[in-house]
Amino acid sequence: MLTEAKNLWQEILCQIKDKIPSQNYETWLEPTEGEHLTQNTLWVKVPNAFFIDWIEEHYHTNIYEILGALNQGHLKVKYKSVEGGRERSIPSKVYQPDSSHLQPRYTFDNFIIGESNKFARAAAIAAAKTPGRQYNPLFLYGNVGLGKTHLLQAIGNYIKEHFSGLKVYYLGCEEFMNEMIDAIQSNKMVQFKNKYRRKDALLIDDIQFLEGKEGLQEEIFHTFNALYDEGKQVVFSSDRPPGALANLEERLVSRFQGGLVCDIKPPAFETRIAILKKKMASTDVHVSDEVILFIANNIKGNIRELEGALVKLFAFASLTTGTLDIDRTKELLSDLLSQNTHEITTGKIQKVVANHYNISLSSMRGKRRMKSIILPRDVAIYLSREYTALSLKDIGKEFGGRDHTTIIHAYNKIKKLLNKDNELLDEINNIIKLIKCE
Ligand code: ADP
Ligand code: MG
Repeated sequence: MLTEAKNLWQEILCQIKDKIPSQNYETWLEPTEGEHLTQNTLWVKVPNAFFIDWIEEHYHTNIYEILGALNQGHLKVKYKSVEGGRERSIPSKVYQPDSSHLQPRYTFDNFIIGESNKFARAAAIAAAKTPGRQYNPLFLYGNVGLGKTHLLQAIGNYIKEHFSGLKVYYLGCEEFMNEMIDAIQSNKMVQFKNKYRRKDALLIDDIQFLEGKEGLQEEIFHTFNALYDEGKQVVFSSDRPPGALANLEERLVSRFQGGLVCDIKPPAFETRIAILKKKMASTDVHVSDEVILFIANNIKGNIRELEGALVKLFAFASLTTGTLDIDRTKELLSDLLSQNTHEITTGKIQKVVANHYNISLSSMRGKRRMKSIILPRDVAIYLSREYTALSLKDIGKEFGGRDHTTIIHAYNKIKKLLNKDNELLDEINNIIKLIKCE
């Protein structure tokens, strides 16, 4: 049974290896080993308890898919940690989502509030407390790793807990499409339509996937209308605002905008610290304030990366007795830190926008109010608000000491224009691409 377990786990790892970044593979999967196989269980040895949480949370679906493909779908995978040479079997937490596709770990209680997300969180709570009655649809948008899925799932969990009769369902837009294609191929469109139109609250994540897919847009449109007419709650998330989604039917954009649209921005420094401290409080590992400050200063735009950084440090702390100082932290987090050097700053935005419109950097920051300068300046202000974690006041400082009402005014002006001016939308999308390459 021993070699069988080893081989089976090795086969699973081989297949996962191609699907995930090599650094993740090396950190989390390479140090594991198939240990023992019984009729129903494949036991896997891992270095410590953090590995169990991490693997279950991130690779659970992959592992079970591969087991299924290997005709071993009846097997459960369980983990044993070998801390300090002693073997300890840990009851494995099951992260398997329930039939609503909801994961209990996403709640409003463990969602840290900051300036960047308080509006979206308040709207999500309102929708969860009065499903279908206040904000319909609720449309949350923001960059990757800022908590959209967390809020969608928290809405679902709240409704499930407080309105036991209601049918709530969460899924990604891509999953919706795959299911729709299966239904078309197997002549089961009626069942498919019924499945979604009978929900009381439908939470569809990552709706940007709709771009350019007409059939899918059509189906989402009709599903939304059917639910809306019945007073059922619909929540969407996207990485862009509705007006900035390319190749989207006008009627769908106007549906999205017909409810409440809220954005989530990158967290400010204090919020990043609060998130790190809260996540640290749930373990017994201690990370010094100096290291926490270092992480918060260097990983800015993405909460998932903040969490990833901590988990890596926790794993280190529990594997060795070495001290976790700044140098060691830099070493352990080198991959995450290098990604963050590509962070979008106001400086980069001003430079690319000035280049694009052929104006000088000094006029971008200066006081002159010529038409040829105002539009580029407003675009740069808009992008600074959308893509950096700076406050309105700090953005004002970067633009020659303007006050925050001027910044809001410029921001709103461009936001409004984007809803009707497709040429400007294309231009801005191009500018964003250039800024990301800076
Ligand atoms: P998105 O869907 O926007 O890409 P997620 O919702 O998946 O982002 O968030 C990434 C990770 O960060 C998740 O583990 C989530 O729980 C965590 N997270 C995001 N925002 C917060 C927050 N405000 N407080 C606590 N954890 C958060
Ligand atoms: Mg998400």
